Amino acid sequence: MTKTLFSKIIDREIDSNIIAESDDIIVIEDINPKAPIHYLIIPKKEIEKVQDLEEGDFSYIEKMFKMAQYLSENVEGAGDFRLAINSGADAGQEIPHLHMHFLAGNGEV
Ligand code: AMP
Repeated sequence: MTKTLFSKIIDREIDSNIIAESDDIIVIEDINPKAPIHYLIIPKKEIEKVQDLEEGDFSYIEKMFKMAQYLSENVEGAGDFRLAINSGADAGQEIPHLHMHFLAGNGEV
């Protein structure tokens, strides 16, 4: 199976600005930021989109939200934030590996 772009970033085959990482989740800076702070919170497991989540996958969702709380508490200017998930090509998803956009900064989100 071909790896997704995000799996290649997780495996350090492609460079990226990594903000935080745990056993199950990685956070990278979005290469084309739409806000002063624009991160992508990504489960390391290759789940394509929300529609594909299986029973055992929901722990990733909990961890993604906990990571959002961690970023809010630890990143200057990210106290309040917006989360977004594009789930499926028709909804604007470009990379077929589940990820949550974390947008914050100076009231410009
Ligand atoms: P989506 O449209 O929800 O699939 O979002 C994909 C996001 O990935 C976009 O905001 C892109 O700017 C971002 N992106 C694409 N390639 C890279 C990359 N190599 N490193 C970091 N972010 C990327």
